Amino acid sequence: MGKVYLIGAGPGAPDLLTVKAARLLGRATIVLHDSLVSREVLQLIPKQAETIDVGKRCGQKLLTQDEINQLLIGHANRSPRSPSGRSLDRSADPSAAPYSNNQSTTHHEIIIRLKGGDPVVFGRAGEEIEALRRASVPFEIVPGITAALGAAAAAGISLTDRRAASQIVITTYSRGSDSAQSDPFTVTPQLDWAAISSTTTLVLYMPGADYAEVSHRLREAGQPEDLPCVIVSNATTPQQQIRWTTVAGLAREAKLPAPALLIVGRVATHEIQEIAATNWRGEIDEYRRKHSTIS
Ligand code: SAH
Repeated sequence: MGKVYLIGAGPGAPDLLTVKAARLLGRATIVLHDSLVSREVLQLIPKQAETIDVGKRCGQKLLTQDEINQLLIGHANRSPRSPSGRSLDRSADPSAAPYSNNQSTTHHEIIIRLKGGDPVVFGRAGEEIEALRRASVPFEIVPGITAALGAAAAAGISLTDRRAASQIVITTYSRGSDSAQSDPFTVTPQLDWAAISSTTTLVLYMPGADYAEVSHRLREAGQPEDLPCVIVSNATTPQQQIRWTTVAGLAREAKLPAPALLIVGRVATHEIQEIAATNWRGEIDEYRRKHSTIS
């Protein structure tokens, strides 16, 4: 039986792969990857290896999550066929040629499932892990640098700058419209606004095309209009773009190319000292005032 490696490809730059990920990729014979994985990282896969793009583009799925699970299990069991007998190995289906660069039906010992960023952050790794466990297929998770960290590095900011932040909330603005029909058990994550304080750094993955709506939602939830916000597109790649703005200013920003994310909070600026000096002081005073009333 083969072993499945759920590998994080990082945010894009190939030299941000872990040494372990690079080593495994260099030995790959089959790689199932998301469309988020950068071209530069895909170029590290040996030419003779079979690569299958199982990602989504523009909301249109190439393979369903269940098909991906079955593909992983099928390859690990040295059987490319599902229990129903329907071939899920599209590499054997000439009509599916765009998904695969090689139509071999070879069986593989090392099966690589390559995901952008880290596999366990908005990577649907949970479903794959569960399917592999149920099928008693051995697997291992190889972490990658998640987009939030790649974006913070690109912007040159500290997500937990102690002068202005005490926690990071990594969340998504995606309403998961594609998930309802294909994955009835998928819960679209709802942001728990009660968990957001003035010292929270909010990292919004998948912000969508409508920044004005995101801005509106943030303001509706009580985020100050002048709270800093930075949009980072294609972090760590040659296509990287960064826009510095505020919660209110976000509404006027043109959409940047995907993948992009938003970092919202007092750390999302290079003028952190000024912000920390004003707001932070106000809160300490407020805390002391409340505290003295209680005692
Ligand atoms: N597992 C991935 C996230 C997948 S969700 C990770 O850990 O990073 C896809 C979202 O990640 C995108 O919509 C975008 O918000 C974010 N993302 C991924 N790569 C990015 C990059 N290079 N720059 C900016 N955002 C990125």
